[in-house]
Amino acid sequence: MDLNLPSANADLALDGDLRLALWQKLSTEIERYLRLLPGDPVSRPLDAAATAALRAQIASVDFEHPMAPGDALQFAVAGLWEHQVHTPHPRYFGLFNPAPTTMGVAADALVAAFNPQIAAWSHAPFAAEVEAYVLRAVAAKFGYPAASTDGVFTSGGAEANHTALLCALTHAFPEFSRGGVRALPRPPAIYVSNQSHHSLVKAARLCGLGTDAVRVLEVDAGMRLEPARVAAAIARDRAAGFEPLLLVATLGTTGTGAVDPIAALAELAARENIWLHADAAWGGLAALVPELRSVIGGVERANSITFDAHKSLSVPMGAGMFLTRHADLLERAFRVDENYMPRDASGLATAGIDPFAHSIQWSRRFIGLKLFLSLAVAGWEGYAAVLRQQLAMAALLRQAAPAAGFRVVNDTPLPLVCLAPDRPEGDTPAVIDAIVRAAVASGQVWVSAAALPPRGGQPRAAIRCCITNYRTQAADIQALLACLTRASR
Ligand SMILES: *Cc1c(COP(=O)(O)O)cnc(C)c1O
Repeated sequence: MDLNLPSANADLALDGDLRLALWQKLSTEIERYLRLLPGDPVSRPLDAAATAALRAQIASVDFEHPMAPGDALQFAVAGLWEHQVHTPHPRYFGLFNPAPTTMGVAADALVAAFNPQIAAWSHAPFAAEVEAYVLRAVAAKFGYPAASTDGVFTSGGAEANHTALLCALTHAFPEFSRGGVRALPRPPAIYVSNQSHHSLVKAARLCGLGTDAVRVLEVDAGMRLEPARVAAAIARDRAAGFEPLLLVATLGTTGTGAVDPIAALAELAARENIWLHADAAWGGLAALVPELRSVIGGVERANSITFDAHKSLSVPMGAGMFLTRHADLLERAFRVDENYMPRDASGLATAGIDPFAHSIQWSRRFIGLKLFLSLAVAGWEGYAAVLRQQLAMAALLRQAAPAAGFRVVNDTPLPLVCLAPDRPEGDTPAVIDAIVRAAVASGQVWVSAAALPPRGGQPRAAIRCCITNYRTQAADIQALLACLTRASR
């Protein structure tokens, strides 16, 4: 059978030898990508001509004239290779997207093929039980008690944060599930720092509260939420007839890696009887490295936690986790009466929870397998070693930056380093933007610009370098600094 014969593909299954040949080609292409990538540019320039060429290339695929399976696969490989920022590249110092674990890639392929329906427990008990097991194991790392922990895999941190807001609403207002926001006795207020992730603002909109419900608070010099400022905002809102509902502590802000003082915020939340959500989408990595654990000490008192497996745990997107120590709450927030879901497990006393009754999603991909298999093979110790390596690379960057003419302008124990040229006006957004653009255009590294709080009314920015890849080595850090030095001339 020939993968490159167009006549071979009239059925969707691509039966027999043809399918085997396709799998072989697929694994060969993935392996080729992984081996050759470090020598390739991290990204290629984006311009109007390249975009036009890309659209024409895609439009050349004509669904009236099907192509051969091998050609179709090759088309996708070439397109992805040519037209993306290569997040798996060891010199990608970008957003929190890692190089995926090999076990994670294998898991995602397996899940696609077996395609378990994980809405109903009885349809896919292996999948449902694996997810429950992994969630409990991760929750234990955050200090949640096994008996009262619940959680759900999400598409990512944004869905987990949305879930947190729904849980907070359901918890504070039993009438919310039926009457919606119109049934609430007082308008709720949500407290976040101006460094928090914008998915929380989106969640407020999606829940029908509107963005005005979000109190975006100023931060201290370390870009952390100040408990006294939160307390003052809560007091103001109570006096004005609002219901302080939710306080979000960001453990590792997206921009600069700042860690809000979770222990003090937990005290405050308990005193004020308000839901505390820890957004540890990326910085939750501190829970897995014993010497970093104290950085997020107190997180076990949070009512809920967001932690993304597709960030510091290096599994392919999308894999987020929502964890809560209120075992009944997801069910209260999400179960609806239905009459068509399978009842196969109704007589089985040992049946687990139906995932659809715990999640915003209904039919859902088996997200947890990529983390389960990665953890099964690397173990906690393997993950801790990888994270320590990333921390060491960040320490190296901080240490080597001054000799290259840069100063470190953020303060975080996490592997995220924000730099600015060590000269007057070095941190103005125009200067930073020019450096970032030149560095990215070189294709040698990928970095971004982070906004810093203004100083004396003047906006400030920094070059944001996040070590997020388990392959990044000292030579890559040296290359980064050399590239930034050239870019800042
Ligand atoms: C990345 C991030 C999110 C959003 O997570 P997604 O996985 O992109 O949906 C939320 N909060 C923080 C702090 C993040 O860093």
